Order: sequence, then structure tokens, then C-alpha cells
Amino acid sequence: MPIVQVAFDLPLDRLFDYLAPDATNADTGRRILAPFGPGQKVGVILAVSNESQWPEQQLRPVTAIWRDTPPFSPDDLKLLRFCSTYYHHPLGAVLLNALPPGLRRIKGWSPPRRRRKADLVQPAVAPVLTGEQDAAVRSVLSGNGTFQPVLLHGVTGSGKTEIYLRLIEQQVAQGRQILVLTPEISLTPQLEQRFRERLPGIALVSMHSGLGEKERAARWLEAQSGEAAVVLGTRSAIFCPMPRLGLIVVDEEHDSSYKQQEGLRYSARDLALVRAQQLQIPVILGSATPALETWWNAQAGRYRLLSLSARAIPGARLPAIRLIETPAARAQDIAPVVLEAIGYRMARNEQSLIFVNRRGYAPVLFCPQCHWISGCSRCTAKMVVHLRSHELRCHHCGLKRPIPKHCPDCGNTHLDTLGSGTQKIEARLRSHFPSARILRLDSDSLTRRDAWEETLRTIHAGEVDILVGTQLLVKGHDFPKITLVAALGADQALYSSDFRSSERLFAQLVQVAGRAGRAADRGEVLIQTAFPGHPLFQALLAHDYPGFAQRELDERRLTGFPPFAYQALLRAASENPDALEKFMKDAAAAAPALSSGMEIYDPVPPPLAKIAGKARLQLLVQAGHRTRLQEFLTAWETPLQALAPRSVQWSLDVDPTEL
Ligand code: ADP
Ligand code: ZN
Ligand code: ZN
Repeated sequence: MPIVQVAFDLPLDRLFDYLAPDATNADTGRRILAPFGPGQKVGVILAVSNESQWPEQQLRPVTAIWRDTPPFSPDDLKLLRFCSTYYHHPLGAVLLNALPPGLRRIKGWSPPRRRRKADLVQPAVAPVLTGEQDAAVRSVLSGNGTFQPVLLHGVTGSGKTEIYLRLIEQQVAQGRQILVLTPEISLTPQLEQRFRERLPGIALVSMHSGLGEKERAARWLEAQSGEAAVVLGTRSAIFCPMPRLGLIVVDEEHDSSYKQQEGLRYSARDLALVRAQQLQIPVILGSATPALETWWNAQAGRYRLLSLSARAIPGARLPAIRLIETPAARAQDIAPVVLEAIGYRMARNEQSLIFVNRRGYAPVLFCPQCHWISGCSRCTAKMVVHLRSHELRCHHCGLKRPIPKHCPDCGNTHLDTLGSGTQKIEARLRSHFPSARILRLDSDSLTRRDAWEETLRTIHAGEVDILVGTQLLVKGHDFPKITLVAALGADQALYSSDFRSSERLFAQLVQVAGRAGRAADRGEVLIQTAFPGHPLFQALLAHDYPGFAQRELDERRLTGFPPFAYQALLRAASENPDALEKFMKDAAAAAPALSSGMEIYDPVPPPLAKIAGKARLQLLVQAGHRTRLQEFLTAWETPLQALAPRSVQWSLDVDPTEL
């Protein structure tokens, strides 16, 4: 009798055998329902055979093989297997997580009622390509049918998206599908609309976590059936089955949101390269500020580098950047010159954007008398002041409590806030410009997608004079009325212990500067810093990413950091600090013999040493070769599994981006 080997979403790297009288090889990759322990579980068939290592009478029959939806194809399974091996994550967990939530559940799948709204978009006319754009399009097309990674490096507004659109038209005309990855959900409405306007008549689905379960599953199935020609999606769309995939585009490839920071810690950008190689198709990584790993790959000739040197709209120039020297102690205050510049823009009915680099700068409560600070009782994090709800909140574990009326340590009733969050800056602007229409945007004020769309509308309608915001604001939006951008708190990144912080700062400032005067040529960017002579700022003034990247790479080479080394992190957490410490010590002792060029460091606490009552430790492993690192991790996994007590949770993070 046929036997199916099934993978489930379990923290175990093994398959389970079931009897399946009517199973055939064509069922490989299908979802099934099967008895598991006392209940039922959804799994995926990975093999159909006639024998099992277990006696047949011990095997249970499957409950159902779901044949109403297509199976994972051999190509899909190949990518997912790679993902499991490379990230050292059980295959079953990888497979089930690749499915949209609606198809992971036990209840049978029923497609949502078709309620496609008629396409109301006005088709837009394509501009004539510039010489550089045209050359880029032709260069990518010449790589059709082969694995050809391309780094498309172009300043913001240089016409990268226009190139994607041309390539999509070409591919669709040849009957192929295209996958476009984009970093943020908040980005997709504008981008999606532009795609629809420019690609009328082409079946496009967007895919992101903001969709309802049924809708998301329906779109996934449209891609899997080949009905959808274009998939525009965030990180997880990299796993979306597309039988005729001919091109992958990774827009803003440097963006940190391509890396998943929990569970299966994959990089969608890196998997895009793997998928393209497996399928022998071109892949385009687009960015104004490529990740240094990507830039290095282009320098080393592994990726083809295509550059766009100017803004695409005739007459549009890059904004003028000015550094405003601000003493370190006042880094979070708005400098008088900046206030003046905002007033000037207001008088001309133009918009200003105040960008607050908030990493580590949320306002915390403190006592000037005894220096008490509002720490979270469950984490090493500080609790952040939320004025509107009159609470202190921990952004790491979610703990909330009312703002105390006096210092819990010394009783002082004059508590102050430390560090300047967006709320404090908003308050400062309100008192300086009482008549201004000020809009603050951060993750607290923007949790819902419709709130975001409404916000975009008010900005575009010119119903706002001053925008105050964080990272969220700077990603890819086109706000033509913004002519002034001011950045506060930039220096914070220069003090950081994370070796990637200056790379991130540079990228953010380029993005933020790109918001100024996209349409007109009057954009002005003011950056407050205590170190105007710093090479990072000098490169920024000169719009010189290659110069910045070269200096950073030289430094990384000297210090032996990525891209000149490959890293993995063993992360562990436990409510029992002693058990945690012992596990990490044992783990280091059980490490396989190191090959040359490999290093294993001591366990250290991460920047947040405790989250929600759990102590955390991490241990860095570094190697000069990717394969050496992989061999090491494979050999290490078994002892790790054997050593970990129940009270300790651990995971491996391959190519970590946050140390
Ligand atoms: P990027 O993706 O690099 O930020 P976009 O493709 O969004 O750049 O182009 C920026 C702006 O320039 C858009 O408004 C776009 O419509 C316009 N644009 C792009 N290519 C051209 C072109 N060849 N001629 C005129 N305008 C263009
Ligand atoms: Zn006090
Ligand atoms: Zn907390």
C-alpha cells in the first residue's frame, strides 16, 4: 500500500509516515490532513513510496489529501529545501510557514467569492527612457534565460521603477511571471497604483500581511496557477509559487525588513538570488544605497553593476544638503536655523519634513534630583513616555503603567523627559508655530493601513504644513510639496556599537534627503550634527555613495567584518539565567573543531539583555568561507539539540543583521 512521508510544522527535522491508499507521485508537495497525537495536523507530502521503516500495522491512514489546490512544484520544494538547510530550520516548519495562513489551517479551503472591482485606474503614458535607462533595460534583457544578478544603483528618482515597469512589460509579453519584492506594507499602495496605471490589462496581485486570510490565500493561488502575471509583495512573497517565473526584482534591496527577525530568520533578498539561480533567470537588486555586501559583490564582478547617475525628470536636481553644526548636548533640539527655514517654507505654502532618528531616542521619564529612570521591570529596556494615553510603555514586552506623579525613589514631583521623541519635537514645534498644521507620524500613530492611506491623502492634499516622523516616513514616498527636510539625532548612529550603524545612517539620510523637492529643484536638506567634518557627512554632501562604500569596505576588511567574513549567531533565552549561562558554556565547549580562519566568540548579552522576564545571551561564530561556516553549523546542531534543557529556547541566526 502507498505510504506518504509528511512534514509538519514542528521543531523536529524528520518526516512522518502514513498510509494513503490512493496516493500517487503526483501528490508530492500537496497539503494533507493527518492524525497526529490525539489531534489532527496539516502537513505537506514530501515523498510517496511503497515502503516504510515502520511495520505497516503501526502506521495510521491520512485523514485527507487536499487536491483542490495545486501542490508545491519541484522548483518550489527545491527553494524551500535550500532555505531549510541554509538557515538550519526544520523543513516542515519552512514548508508550512511558506504557505499563507489560510492554507495552513485545518479547516478546508474555500475560495472567497469573486468580487474583483472593475479596474478604475487611468492608464498612464510611459515616458521616453533616458539613455541610461534604455541601456539598463537592454542589459537586463540580454541576460534572459540565464542567471544574471544585476545591481541597479541609482539615486532616488533616477528612474529605477520605470526600468522595472519596462522589464515587466517585456516579460509578460513573453508569457512569463514577475515577482517584485518591496520592503514595507506602507509602501505598497502608491507603488501598486503606479504599477496598475502603467500595466493596464496585466493581472497583478499584491501580497502582504495586511490582507485578510482568505484574500491572501486567494491571491497566492492566483500566482500559483499562473493566472497572476505580476506579484508585488513584501518579504514573504519570496516563497510564493510562480510556475512561469521569468524575473525577480528586489526594490530597495538594502532594506532591513527583508530579513525576518524571528522564527525562520531568512533574508528574502538573499533567497531571491538563490531562487533566480535555481531557475536560471535574471534578478535585479535596486537601491540608491546598496547593502555593502551587495556593493562588494558588484565590485568583485559577481553582479553586473548598472548605474543611473541623474534624476529622471528633466530639470530635477538632487537636493542641496547643508550640515547644521549642533553641540552634542543639544542634538535633539531643533536648531534656530532650522526653525527659521521651516517658517520660510510655511510662508510659501510648502511642506517641511522633520526626520527624527529615533533609534534609542524615545523619551523616557527621569528624575533630575536622584537620576531615577523609568526602566521596565521585565526587560533591560527603558519604558517610553506616551503623553496621549498618559502611560509609560515598554516597546519590547508591551508592559504599560500610568505615568507616576512623583519619583518612586526620592519622591521628587518634578519629573522630566529625557531624550527627544517625536512627541516632544511635535510639542516644541506647536509652541513655536501655533498656527501650523503639524502631523506626527510614527509606528504608534500608524498601526492601521487605512490610517496610513488617509495620512498620505492629507499630505498630498497639502493639508499639512509640518510632518514629524521616523524611519517610516522616509521610505519611497513621493511628496511633491515637501521642499525642506531636516534630520535630527543623526549622530546617535555614530556612537553605536553595531558595525552596520553608519551604513544604515547613510542609507537613511539619503532616503530622507530624497524626499525633498522630488518634482521641483528647490529641495533643501538640513542635517544637525556635532561632527560636520565626519567623512560620512562629507560623502553625503557630495552625493557620493561609491566613496562612502569604499571607505566602509576598507574598514570592514581591516576589522574582518562582513562582507569579508560570514557570521552566524547562536541566540538563546530563558527565564532561568543559570540554566541559560550553563547552556551557552556547554554549547561553546561542544563546538566542532574549528577550521582555519574560523572564530567562536564568548557568549554576550545582546543590547536588550532581558525581554519579558527572559534573560538572553548570544554567541557569535565567524568564518572566512561560507561553506566552512555551514559545515560547522551542521555539525554543531546535534550537540546543541542534546544540550538544551527544556527551560532554554535557542535558535541559529545565519547572516545576522542585528547583533
Ligand atoms: P526611482 O524608482 O529611481 O526612485 P522613478 O522610476 O520613480 O525613480 O522615477 C522618478 C520620477 O521620474 C517619476 O515621477 C517617474 O515618473 C519619472 N521618470 C522616470 N523615468 C523618466 C523618464 N525617462 N522621463 C521622464 N520622467 C521619468
Ligand atoms: Zn528621584
Ligand atoms: Zn519590558
